[in-house]
Amino acid sequence: MTDLTTLGIAAIRDGVRDGQFKAREVAEAFNAKVAGARALNAFLVETPEHALAAADAADAARAAGETLKPLAGVPIGMKDLFATKGVATTAASKILEGFVPPYESTVSQNLWNAGAGMLGKLNLDQFAMGSSNETSAFGNVISPWRRPNDTAPLAPGGSSGGSSTAVSAGLAPGATGTDTGGSIRQPAAFTGISGIKPTYGRCSRWGTIAFASSLDQAGPMARDVRDCAIMLEAMAGFDAKDATSLKLDVPNWEAALSTDLKGRRVGVPKEYRVDGMPAEIEALWQQGIDWMRDAGAEIVEVSLPHTKYALPAYYIIAPAEASSNLARYDGVRYGLRDLPEGAGLQDMYAATRAAGFGDEVKRRILIGTYVLSAGFYDAYYTQAQKVRTLIARDFERAFEQCDVLLTPTAPSAAFALGEKQADPLAMYLNDVFTVPASLAGLPAMSVPGGLDKDGLPLGLQIIGKPLDEQGVLNAGLAIEQRAGFTARPQAWW
Ligand code: GLN
Repeated sequence: MTDLTTLGIAAIRDGVRDGQFKAREVAEAFNAKVAGARALNAFLVETPEHALAAADAADAARAAGETLKPLAGVPIGMKDLFATKGVATTAASKILEGFVPPYESTVSQNLWNAGAGMLGKLNLDQFAMGSSNETSAFGNVISPWRRPNDTAPLAPGGSSGGSSTAVSAGLAPGATGTDTGGSIRQPAAFTGISGIKPTYGRCSRWGTIAFASSLDQAGPMARDVRDCAIMLEAMAGFDAKDATSLKLDVPNWEAALSTDLKGRRVGVPKEYRVDGMPAEIEALWQQGIDWMRDAGAEIVEVSLPHTKYALPAYYIIAPAEASSNLARYDGVRYGLRDLPEGAGLQDMYAATRAAGFGDEVKRRILIGTYVLSAGFYDAYYTQAQKVRTLIARDFERAFEQCDVLLTPTAPSAAFALGEKQADPLAMYLNDVFTVPASLAGLPAMSVPGGLDKDGLPLGLQIIGKPLDEQGVLNAGLAIEQRAGFTARPQAWW
């Protein structure tokens, strides 16, 4: 019998529906994989009973002859940034240790309504701040990938590093991610899987622990483009509880998947040829351009002149919003409380935050409060907001000449854990290709394109017009077909 954990979302859904295997067998197989992979530290909480309950419901529905829900029998991993009712939710921060939400996030509820089950809560960079999963208060996630003849632990990308690891190591057929400046796309690229950040407002932010509210978007991470389309359909949709949620029907992205790009124009932004870009990334990008042409697309060079200001603008806007969002963690309402002997209220706030927030989170709060302070507001925050508008306008102009954009996802393959931790600026540079689409709220996806000289995955990014997830998915599928990427990490854990 086939190892059920080798199957993706579509194959599991179809197999359960057609009676090839029971949903319970699928859940049991993945639960066992999760339990056997603790060395990767991908899961903060395991919830095998949740996966089994959803599976039993799917099997019962099938036995009763009911039409199955779109994700019936599919167990997934849930990034621990989504509040899950009755299941500990920490955003990988000590300050939320012990917090058990009395409510369910809209995105996770949508997935349960679609019949999915939960394998557990996935580790991440603390409050989703990071690119390597090294800022988690509960230990690094170790990428399942390794360089040849080298046991040095590699970064799985971040902040959705638990999600990328779970999917690429075969512990889950799909997982949720969130992307504020690249946290779905960069970890997907580092681990050889696919992930899409939809248009800002497609997925409700309600019940998702906030980092930078004007940027945060949820999205799926899965083994291939079709699985991403299926999962995104379940996650997305209007939600009255999120004021920025888009009041639009969710398209049937899976049904409209097509790899025929005839008549489509693919833009190649010249400003993404950054200094010091490794030759391998450059070569992969060229390969991607050739694949697009082979799929029938016309290639056009476009200009996004403000690209070089995207990263500095992001690292002002995101910390500014974070400093405001994180003010709610004061020791009064949730999680940790540090109340020293004889302390007053202010002392309790200070002690709780000092003990509860990690270094990167503190750095962001300091930057955020600084750029929002009276004397510096105009010089930094207002300026960054202006740059954000210019970046959005760059994309609008480019999209007059093309339908989607093709770029590398990240400027390098996965690096070793510890390699960039001492230098926050080097770490922030990871986001150079992903941040602009985030600032403009555009849908963007990473698909695996090939391997570097060390056998590590590299990703290609497709950026689309607002609400054109379909165009992004179809271009992604055209690459997927041509890349024929089948590499998987060899289990060493
Ligand atoms: N790496 C980026 C940061 O640290 C993006 C994080 C994210 O998208 N959540 O802010």
